[in-house]
Amino acid sequence: MKNLAILGSTGSIGSSTLSVLKNNHEVFNVSLLSAKSNWEKIFNQCKVFKPKYVHLEDQESSKKLKEKLYQENLSTSLIDKKDFLKLISSNEVDVVVAGIVGIAGLKSIYKALTSGKRLLLANKEAYVVAGEILNKVAKKSKADIFPIDSEHSAIHQCLSGVSGSSSSLKKVILTGSGGPFLKKNVNDFPKITPEEAIAHPVWSMGKKISVDSSTMMNKGLEVIEAKWLFDLNSEQIDIIIHPEGIVHSLVEFTDNSIIAQLSLPDMKIPIAYGLGFPDRIESFSESLNLEKISQLNFIKPDDQKFPSLNLARQALSAGGTSTTLLNAANEMAVEAFLNKVIDFTQIMEIIALVMDTIEIKTVKEIEGIYEADILARELAKKKINFLNN
Ligand code: NAD
Ligand code: MG
Repeated sequence: MKNLAILGSTGSIGSSTLSVLKNNHEVFNVSLLSAKSNWEKIFNQCKVFKPKYVHLEDQESSKKLKEKLYQENLSTSLIDKKDFLKLISSNEVDVVVAGIVGIAGLKSIYKALTSGKRLLLANKEAYVVAGEILNKVAKKSKADIFPIDSEHSAIHQCLSGVSGSSSSLKKVILTGSGGPFLKKNVNDFPKITPEEAIAHPVWSMGKKISVDSSTMMNKGLEVIEAKWLFDLNSEQIDIIIHPEGIVHSLVEFTDNSIIAQLSLPDMKIPIAYGLGFPDRIESFSESLNLEKISQLNFIKPDDQKFPSLNLARQALSAGGTSTTLLNAANEMAVEAFLNKVIDFTQIMEIIALVMDTIEIKTVKEIEGIYEADILARELAKKKINFLNN
C-alpha cells in the first residue's frame, strides 16, 4: 500500500487524481489532503477518502473545516502549516502529488524532494523558478520525479526513463493546442475578456493555467520545465501547435526516428502513469478512437502574435533568477487580468518590464528564489496600479 499526499486536492489536478484513486483504492491510501480555502469541497473529499490528515492554508476556512469534522465525527486531523510540511517528509507519506498552482507550491515540493519521495509534478511554476536547485536536492535524496503535465509525461513515456542527456536523443517536440485565440485577429486582443480566455477549446483546467494557455505562456513555461526535467538545452526543445490535443508530445532521436504519445486529452492518463510506474494501472479515461478523430494537424507557432514564447526563451537563456522574474510577473499579471484590472495584452507588457528592469542573479539556495520573487511582485504591482489609473 502506498501512502499519498495530495496537495491542491480541491483543484482540477487534485480532483482528477482522486478520481483515479477512487478506482484503485486497494493499492493506494490517501494520507493527506491539502488546499487553500475551499473547506466544503475538502470536507466532502475527507468523507470519501478518509485521510489521516488534512490541511488548509487559509485560517478562517480551517476553523470552519475543524468544526465540520468535529460535528460529523470524522477521525481526520486538521494540521497547521508547520506539521503539514513535516508530514510531507515523514514516513507516513510515500508519494506526493503536487497540484498547487504557482510558486505557492514550491516549499512543499522542496520538502518532498529533500526527503526522497516520489513526486508527481503538476505544479510547473515550481520547476520554472527553481529547477536547478530542485534537481540537485532530488539527486541527493534519490527522489523520483514523474511529470503530470501531459507533454512532459508524454516525453517521459517516449523516453521510457532514458535520461535527456543520452546521446541518442536529438530533441523533444512539445505540442500545444494553441488555446482559444489561435485564429483570433491580434488587433482584437485588447478586448479579450477573462471569460473568453478561460474557455479552453480542449482541456478543462484551473483559471490560471487556462489564461496561460490563452497567452501561450503555458507553452513557454513548459519549455523551461522540459529543460530541467530532461536535462536539455533550449535548442533541443521545439514547439508545434496541434489543435486536436491528441499527440501529447514527441521525441526525435539521432537516427531521425520520432516517437510520440497519443491519447484523448484527459489528465487522468498522465496521473495514472505517474502513480503506477513501472506498472500501468487503469486510468478510467476513455479509449482513443482514431477513426473518429480522422485527422491530426500540426502548425508552426506564431511568436509575433504570442510574445510569451520569446519571453520564456529569453528567460531560459539568461538563466539565474530570470525565470523567477518571468513567473512572478506572469502570476501577478494573470491575477490582475482575471480581476479585470488590466487588459489581455498588458499581461505581456508587465512581464517584459519586470524582466528588463530587475537585475538577474545567480542563486544556489531556495531563499534567493523567494527574494527575486518578492522584488518582481513589487514591481509588477506598481505597474498594474499605474495601468489601472
Ligand atoms: P486549480 O486552480 O484548479 O487548483 C489549484 C489548487 O491549488 C487548489 O486546490 C487550491 O486550493 C490550491 N492552492 C492555490 N493556491 C494555494 C496556496 N497559496 N496554498 C496552498 N494551496 C493553494 O489549478 P489546476 O488547474 O489544478 O493546476 C494546478 C497546477 O497543475 C498548476 O501549476 C498547473 O499549471 C498544473 N497543471 C494543470 C493541468 C490541468 O489540467 N489542470 C495540466 C497540467 C499542469
Ligand atoms: Mg501541459
